[in-house]
Amino acid sequence: MFLMDGIRWQVLQRDNRGCVVCGIRPVENDTVVLHVDNISPGSSGGNDNIDNYQTLSDKCKIGKSNTNKTGL
Ligand SMILES: [Zn+2]
Repeated sequence: MFLMDGIRWQVLQRDNRGCVVCGIRPVENDTVVLHVDNISPGSSGGNDNIDNYQTLSDKCKIGKSNTNKTGL
C-alpha cells in the first residue's frame, strides 16, 4: 500500500505515535514496529483523509484480519 508521507506523519501524530489497539509505543519498546493501516480499504474517495487510517503495531496488524478493532 502506498501512503503519502504527509498522511503517515499526520496519523502517527494523531495516534501519539503508538498502536491504537494495545497502546504500545516505540519510545517505550524499541522492538515495536508501527504501521499506518488503512481502516477501510474498500471505501472510495476517503483515502486521503487521516480518519481513514490508524496506527497499528506489527502484532495487532497481523491479528486484525478484516475486523476493525480500533479499541476506541
Ligand atoms: Zn498493538
